[in-house]
Parts: sequence; structure tokens; C-alpha cells
Amino acid sequence: METFYLGAQPHWLGPDSPLPGKIPVCVPRGRLTGRATLPRATRRWLLDSRGFTVLSRKQDDGHYARWDITPQQYVRGRPRLRRPDRPHGSRSSMDWICEGPVRANTGFEILEHLRRTVISYLELRWLDPTLPIFPVIQGDASLTVDHHLHCVDMYEQAGIDLTALPLVGVGSVCKLQATARIVDLFAALHHRLGGRTRLHAFGVKAQGLAAIAPAVYSADSQAWSKQGRATVKRCPHPDSGVRWEANCPIAAQQWFGTVLTAAARTIPAVWGRQVHTYRRRGNAGLLFEDLEPATAPPTTGERIASAVRVLLPEDTESELAAMLDDFSRVHSDQARAPWPTTASRAA
Ligand SMILES: [Zn+2]
Repeated sequence: METFYLGAQPHWLGPDSPLPGKIPVCVPRGRLTGRATLPRATRRWLLDSRGFTVLSRKQDDGHYARWDITPQQYVRGRPRLRRPDRPHGSRSSMDWICEGPVRANTGFEILEHLRRTVISYLELRWLDPTLPIFPVIQGDASLTVDHHLHCVDMYEQAGIDLTALPLVGVGSVCKLQATARIVDLFAALHHRLGGRTRLHAFGVKAQGLAAIAPAVYSADSQAWSKQGRATVKRCPHPDSGVRWEANCPIAAQQWFGTVLTAAARTIPAVWGRQVHTYRRRGNAGLLFEDLEPATAPPTTGERIASAVRVLLPEDTESELAAMLDDFSRVHSDQARAPWPTTASRAA
């Protein structure tokens, strides 16, 4: 692991940060927009899209949960910072977390979550190619690693080379932590992507990183704040400058050290053995065999355009619809390749 982004508040980004040195931080979307005083970033940072919070939120009106902003708003609402030469940190696409409780909240099957996740990346990149948006590999690894592998296939089908990108997120993993599932998942991804992809593990902290650190490029977590709120409450550090432990920079910094120490526990050679074990055992999952379309699938352009249309409000301006038609046409000459099956992938 190269980088761990400490879950933090926006004013921890800049030169007045209570954090020492160059500790990278992860700040939530929303806290950086509509501010009177803009922070200045003096360290690496990552934007938390708040997808988990949004899609986990119970709806008062009985409706299923959806993203609370449109892709256009996500792109336009770029966080504002004082320093123009480093205008924004990395941010994930508007992915669809696949954990069971979240799916119960959205009313969608896993495959629909995967489709929307892949489409979101394509759409956001298309809306603003200059934004450092990275794709997320989704799936419910508490059931099988196959979803995440299928998601990788879907990106490839859409022409995205995950091994060539600066960062690729791996989602729905924070509940797995130090279980055999998280080792299996990252071994499967390592094997599938040839160990050449810069993977970011969302919400994975000390326990999880102690098992998989050599397989990831980066991770983020703000678990220190939740712990502080739940167990310590009032900050016991006299010089922290804060009242509550959930906001305490001293607790955050100590916790950051614990995470890095844990991440150093698994050396690459040990991880290599994990991947070897996974390869020898093979992947027994065949969940998507029955879901292959019987007819020839649409071309990449058609698929993206029609999928993006589904996500747009019905009264969307015709100009955008026309752009989608163009996009569909431009990509319509691509081969009508069949969706890969688990069996063909293994062959
Ligand atoms: Zn404290």
C-alpha cells in the first residue's frame, strides 16, 4: 500500500491543518461546496462521494433509495479550493454499493448495481474528461468474488483498461475487514488484473489492511471518528483544541499510525502465496451463467447511450438526447462481442 487517506474534515486539507506533515486525507462531498472560506489543499486528498450514506438512507416516503444528485450536478459541483494549481483531489464515480442492506434499500438486483456503477464512470468521464474520476469495481463479496470479476468484465466490454488508470476503487468491502472473504476477493482481482492495477480499498482499516495491504495501492477510512463518538465521547487530550473525540486530530493521528503499522504486517511474498493459493483452488462461483443474454448484445455505444438515458430525468433537454444518439453512432461500428461468461474467462 502506497497511501492511506485519513477520513477528515475539509479544514484539515490545508496549511492550517492540525495534522502534521503530509498525511493524505479523505473529505466528504458536500462539506467543500457552498463554503464562504475556501480551504487550500497542501496534501494529497480524496473526495468521499458519500454513496454509501446516500444509498443506505431509509426513505421516509417509502420510495427506494437513489443518488440524491444527478451526474451533471456531481460533475459541476466540483469542490472549490483556494489553490488553482491543485483544484481537486481524486473522486470516485457515482457507484452503487452492493451490500445486501443497501440493495434492499434500492430495490435493485446485484447485476443492476454493477451496470449502473460501470455506466456512471463512463457517463461522468464523458461529461467532464478533465475531472480525476476513477471507476469502482463493485460486487457483494460476502456472497462470492464473482460479482467483482464480472464487473471487471463489464469495464473491459466498455473499452476501459483498468490496468492503465491512475486509480480503481474496490467497493462494498468495508464490512469484510479481516475475513477470508477480503483475502479471496483481492487475490481474485490480483489474479484477474495481473497485479498491475492501482486498487483503492474503500473503508478498509487496520484489520483488513493487515491481510491485503500488498494488493492495494491505497485505502481510506474514518473509523477513528466513529470510534471516538461511540466509545470516548469527550476528548481527553488537553491540547487537541476540540471538545469531542470524534473531531480530535490527536486521536486521528494516533489511529493513522496504527493503520500503517498493521498494513506493514503482510509482506508481498506472503501476499504472493495467497494469490497462488487462490489460483490453485480456483473460483467456484458461477452466479451469472443464467443471466447471459440470449440474443446478440448491443454495441458498446448503444449500451452506454441507452443506459445513460435510463438514468436521465424524462424531461431532459433534447440536446443531450441528441448527443447520446451521436455517441451511440460513433461507437456502433464496434464488434458485437458476446458478454464473457465465467467459463469462457477461465478457459
Ligand atoms: Zn482527543
